[in-house]
Amino acid sequence: DDVLVVDRLKIGIGDKIVIEDANLSVSRGDIVFLLGPNGAGKSTLLRAIIGLPIYRILSGDIYFNGERITDKSMEYRVSRGLGLTYQIPPKLLGVRVVDILSNLCKRSGCNVSEISNELGIMHLLNREFGKGFSGGELKRIEMATLLAQKPRLALVDEPDSGVDIDSIEIIVKAIEHLIEVSPYRSIVIVTHTALISKYIRPTKVCIMISGSVRRCGDEDLLDEVFSHGFKNMA
Ligand code: ADP
Ligand code: MG
Ligand code: MG
Repeated sequence: DDVLVVDRLKIGIGDKIVIEDANLSVSRGDIVFLLGPNGAGKSTLLRAIIGLPIYRILSGDIYFNGERITDKSMEYRVSRGLGLTYQIPPKLLGVRVVDILSNLCKRSGCNVSEISNELGIMHLLNREFGKGFSGGELKRIEMATLLAQKPRLALVDEPDSGVDIDSIEIIVKAIEHLIEVSPYRSIVIVTHTALISKYIRPTKVCIMISGSVRRCGDEDLLDEVFSHGFKNMA
C-alpha cells in the first residue's frame, strides 16, 4: 500500500551526480521527516520526485500511487497529485501573489481568501511574488501556494527554516491541513533543524547523507540525531 516509492534513484545535475542509489517509501498515513546535513541532496531528491527538468534521472525509478512516473513530465506528476513547495520560476518575477494563488485555485477549486487568511498573508496579496519578503513571509506564501494546489501528496522543503515563532504555528496548521486534504493522510517534510518535530510527530524518520538515504526508522531516530548529530550515521 505504498503511496510513493523511490527505488535506487540516481540523479545528475549537469555533469555532476548528486544523488546515488536513493530509496524512500511513503505508505498511507506516513508522516515522513527527511533529515540530513546541508548539501546532502534533500532538496534535489524532492525536486527530482516532482520532475523539475534540470534534475536528470540516470537510473532507478519513481512510483506514485502504483504508477511508474520516472519518465513523466512535471505537469503530469502534478496533475496526478504530487505537490512541492513552490519554487519561483524567474519568469514569474513581477507577478503578484494574488494572481498566482487565483490561478492555482481556479484549477483546484480553492478559495484565495480562505487560504490567505489561514496563512496570514492578506497584506501580501498585491505584492510581487517573493520580492522583499522576510523568511517567515516567504515560507507562508510558499505554504499557501502548496495548499492552493490541493496535492494528494505534499512534499514540503524546510518549512521550519528561517521562520519566527509566530510563523511556525501558522505553518504547522498549514501542514496539518495538507495532511487532511491528502486522501492517504501522508506527507513528506524535509527539515534541517527538526524544529517542526516539536509540533508534528513523524511516523517515519529518514536520514540522507552525501546523496543517499542512509537510514530510516521511527521517531526514536530523531533523538539519536539530536544527541549525536549526523556524523555517526554515514
Ligand atoms: P540539501 O537540500 O540537502 O541541502 P541540495 O539538494 O540542495 O542539498 O544539494 C545537494 C548537492 O547538489 C549539493 O552539493 C549542491 O551543491 C548540489 N546542487 C544542487 N543544485 C545544483 C545545481 N543547480 N547545480 C549544481 N549542483 C547543484
Ligand atoms: Mg528499494
Ligand atoms: Mg535543501
